[in-house]
Amino acid sequence: MRKSILQDRKECFCCGTTLNLERHHVIHGTVGRKIADRLGLTIWLCAEHHRGAYSPHQRRDVDLRYKRFAQSCYMDRYGTKSGYALWIAEVGKNYL
Ligand SMILES: [Zn+2]
Ligand SMILES: [Zn+2]
Repeated sequence: MRKSILQDRKECFCCGTTLNLERHHVIHGTVGRKIADRLGLTIWLCAEHHRGAYSPHQRRDVDLRYKRFAQSCYMDRYGTKSGYALWIAEVGKNYL
C-alpha cells in the first residue's frame, strides 16, 4: 500500500482526533479501493467521520468533497494538464 498523497499526519482528516482512526479509500468500491491504494488516495478518519451521519459513506456531498480534494492533490503533483489526463486514465471519472 502506497503512502497517502493526501495527508501526512495520522489524524482524522475531518476533526483532527487521533482516536479510533480508520483508513478511508477516497475512491472506493471493489475496483476503486485498489486504485486508491496504488495512487495513495487514502485518508484517516475517526469512526464517526468515517461511517457516522456526516461521513462519506452516508452522504454523497461529503464523499464528493473528498474526491474533489483527492483529484486536485493528484493533479497538482503532475501539473494540471497532464495530471488531468493521468487521473482520467487511472480513475476514469472527473470530479471537479
Ligand atoms: Zn473525526
Ligand atoms: Zn471509507
